[in-house]
Amino acid sequence: MSIVENNRTIPHLSPHLIKTDSVQQSAPSGIIPTRAVFSSNELQVLTQDIKRWGRELGFQDVGITDIDLSDHEAHLKNWLDQGLHGDMEWMAAHGNKRSRPAELVPGTLRIISLRMDYLPADTRQIQILQDKSKAYISRYALGRDYHKLIRKRITQLGKRIEQEIGAYGYRAFVDSAPVLERAVAMRAGLGWIGKNTMLLNHKAGSFFFLGELFTDLPLPVDKPQDKVHCGSCTACLDKCPTDAFLGPHKLDARKCISYLTIENSGPIQEELRPLIGNRVFGCDDCQLVCPWNKFAKFSGETDFLPRHKLDSSELADLFLWTEEEFLDRTAGSPIRRTGFEGWLRNLAVGLGNASSSPKVISALKQRLDSPSELISEHVRWALNQHNAL
Ligand code: SF4
Repeated sequence: MSIVENNRTIPHLSPHLIKTDSVQQSAPSGIIPTRAVFSSNELQVLTQDIKRWGRELGFQDVGITDIDLSDHEAHLKNWLDQGLHGDMEWMAAHGNKRSRPAELVPGTLRIISLRMDYLPADTRQIQILQDKSKAYISRYALGRDYHKLIRKRITQLGKRIEQEIGAYGYRAFVDSAPVLERAVAMRAGLGWIGKNTMLLNHKAGSFFFLGELFTDLPLPVDKPQDKVHCGSCTACLDKCPTDAFLGPHKLDARKCISYLTIENSGPIQEELRPLIGNRVFGCDDCQLVCPWNKFAKFSGETDFLPRHKLDSSELADLFLWTEEEFLDRTAGSPIRRTGFEGWLRNLAVGLGNASSSPKVISALKQRLDSPSELISEHVRWALNQHNAL
C-alpha cells in the first residue's frame, strides 16, 4: 500500500439546522440541499438501510461519522511542518480542507466511510519477497486500479439513497481529494490507526481500501474506534526495511519504500537502494508483519486479481518490457502512476539487489545506454553491485 493513498474541528450539528426530534437541513452552498424533513426514527432506519446497501455493493464495513477531525489536524500539521511528506506537495496544498470536510464540500454534515478488502488469494507474498529474482509489487497494485471500481460503487450508494429519500447533497471520494481517510474511518468505527499509520480492523487486518460519501444528511453517527489495539507490539516499526518510522504513528515518507518507488520521480538515494530489495512498486512489510493481518480476508472482486502474472514475474523479464508493453500491460493499473521511467528505475534497483546471474546482467546491460540519465545511472549502480560494469 502506498503511504499516501487510502488505507487512508468542526461543529456537530448546529442547533439552527436541527430540530430536536425532526430534522430539516438548511440550504448549504456547494452541494444539493436536503429538502426532506426526517424524524430521528426515520434517520435511524435510513442509517440501517445505508449500511445494508453498502454491504450489498461489496463493502465489508460501513460507518458514519461527523466532521470533527480536530485531533488529527494537529498531527497532520506537525507532520507537514517537519517536511516528512517529502516532495508530496499536494499533501500540504489544500490548507485545512483535508481536516475540515465542510471546507472541502460546503454543507457536509456526515461522512459515510466504507471499507473494501482487496487481498487477492494465493499471492504468496512472503515467497516472492524472499525470491531475489522476482519482482515484489504491493498487493493492492496487482490488479485493476481500485479508484474506478470503488468510486462507482460509492456513487451507486449515493444514488440508492436518493431513490429512497429524494434529492440530497452527496459526493463520493476515493483518494481523489484531500480527505483524511484513515482518520475518518477511525471516527466512523471502522478500526484504529496502528503504529504503522494504517487503519487496522480487528476482523480484517489492514489489507483494504477506504472510500467516503460526504453528505448533508444529519445521520446518527457511529462510536469512534479510539482505542489503539497495538499493545506493546512494535513489529511494524522493527521490520521496516528502511527504518522509515521515527516512532509509533510517525512515518518519514522520504524513507518509505512506497514513497521512493511511487511518488518520488527522481533518483533513489544510493544508501537506501540495497534496503529496497526486490520491492519495485510499493511495500507491504509493515502490514505483512502485523499480527492483526492473520484476520485479513481475501477479496472476491475480480478487478483485484493479479494481471499479466505481476504477482510472480522475474525482475529481468519486466525490465525488458518495451514502453508499449508497459503501457499496454499497466493500462488501468495503479502501476501507471510511476511511469515507464520510474518503473525501470525501480526494476534496476531490484536487479542490483538480485543474485548475480547471466540473465540479470544481460538485462541490465541492455539498458545501460538508455537516453534517460535516471535509468542509466541506476543501471550503472546495479551493474556495480554485480561487479559487472
Ligand atoms: S505490527 Fe504491531 S504495532 Fe504495528 S500496527 Fe500491527 S499491531 Fe500495531
